[in-house]
Amino acid sequence: MTPVPLYSSQELHIYNSLKGEKEVFTPITEGYIGMYVCGPTVYSNVHLGNCRTFISFDLVFRYLKHLGYKVRYVRNITDAGHLENDGDIGEDKVAKKARLEQLEPMEIVQRYTVDFHNILSQFNTIPPSIEPTATGHIIEQIEIIKTIIENGFAYVTNGSVYFDVKKFNETHNYGKLSGRNLEDMIANTRELAAQSDKKNPQDFALWKKADPEHIMRWPSPWSDGFPGWHLECTVMSTKYLGEEFDIHGGGMDLKFPHHECEIAQGEAACGKTPVNYWMHANMLTLNGKKMSKSTGNTIEPVEIFTGDTDKLNKAFAPSVARFFMLQAHYRSILDFSNNALEASEKGFNRLMEAIKALPQLTASNETKGFDIPAWRQLCYDAMNDDFNSPILIAHLFDVVKFINTLKEGKATISTSDLTLLQKTINDLVFDVLGLTDSTSANSGDGMTDKLSGTVELLIKLRAEARINKDFATSDKIRDELLALGIQLKDGRDGTGYTLN
Ligand code: AMP
Ligand code: ZN
Repeated sequence: MTPVPLYSSQELHIYNSLKGEKEVFTPITEGYIGMYVCGPTVYSNVHLGNCRTFISFDLVFRYLKHLGYKVRYVRNITDAGHLENDGDIGEDKVAKKARLEQLEPMEIVQRYTVDFHNILSQFNTIPPSIEPTATGHIIEQIEIIKTIIENGFAYVTNGSVYFDVKKFNETHNYGKLSGRNLEDMIANTRELAAQSDKKNPQDFALWKKADPEHIMRWPSPWSDGFPGWHLECTVMSTKYLGEEFDIHGGGMDLKFPHHECEIAQGEAACGKTPVNYWMHANMLTLNGKKMSKSTGNTIEPVEIFTGDTDKLNKAFAPSVARFFMLQAHYRSILDFSNNALEASEKGFNRLMEAIKALPQLTASNETKGFDIPAWRQLCYDAMNDDFNSPILIAHLFDVVKFINTLKEGKATISTSDLTLLQKTINDLVFDVLGLTDSTSANSGDGMTDKLSGTVELLIKLRAEARINKDFATSDKIRDELLALGIQLKDGRDGTGYTLN
């Protein structure tokens, strides 16, 4: 007998950006889900903002799988066609980096794809089922352009092909995702129209003829050139998931024009609206401003793992940083700061301490002081409500309190409830939230609690030596720890340490 999948008893609601409201989630084919998420443009190291979006969708992927769905998760690598300023003019981001570093574009792509995978695996994200690249799908992109031209929604000018937004809007709705109105857009940008090959400034490139110095180029019926940025996602999503699929995700900043254009391309090529549920993850900010490569307002994950930045007083394990992000709902803005991470670390440690105590608990005849099955359902209700991880975590802290009263002998738990509690923790903390065990998470390199306690003791002795003006001892402690690869860091809120 095959077990009944969890999804048949849990009603999942997803906030659909296309509708502007939460909807009950129903996949096209029962039991199966196709999900596409826009991947990184691999021309520099990922920053923590990028990671937040990928961790948000990792949570979605994990929960859908946990519910028993068979999920095909496609996340692309943008290795060509993404121009500076995200528009239709300027240099290709990858090619520009290659020129500056005097490397082949594919060396740049390789270097930053490896970095991306390495960082995401430290955050314990599950790799997608398929990770296609734009350069691996040039032929498919040329084919879809031909279809869009045949269907009358694109035109050729000077070897480039543009999507005719105005023509498309006569029979379709350009702006249905972003809530923009084409007439307003045209009214606001009229004076720029004369400067380009486009009929209208809102038209966007499907194919661009390459200037002589543009090195990333391919032959096509129209020119030696390269595909437009929006096209790769249309091609790779529909190739692997079909002309209509269930979920498309990405950061909020991609909603317009990138995703709006994807819908237009899909409808113009296939006559079908490609995506049923659009999901948009909100931004990570630093000092209240969007973390962004172009402004340099970023923090890199390695800076967090090593503590080697003046933005932090100490190092934090990847699992703590992941927990920090999951403490906010994926649709809320989250501001990054040392204090916020420290608070998350405290909560994370409290949770892990309680979980570690579970195997030592002894069961009694009945449970007193807590309703485990009701609590479990509250946890699922939170996740079923548009993947509300902060509410789930709040429920986890309720059970932490109960576990602590059990430890003190002030409450009791039955055998079956203890088993259910343990299973729910395993399912939700480790499988769904993707957190990793506290000992390894605390240190990031397997340092034991005993060793970290010893370093804390030495930090205390050093502080005492300094108060007594015994600088010979305080320097000795610092230098000898450094020789062992433990670097002390004096910050505003006391001394922390990093492992070299
Ligand atoms: P990119 O490599 O620039 O194409 O970005 C990769 C992904 O990271 C996209 O889904 C972006 O929306 C997302 N992203 C970029 N900046 C941030 C940020 N500050 N917070 C959250 N997600 C971001
Ligand atoms: Zn995309």
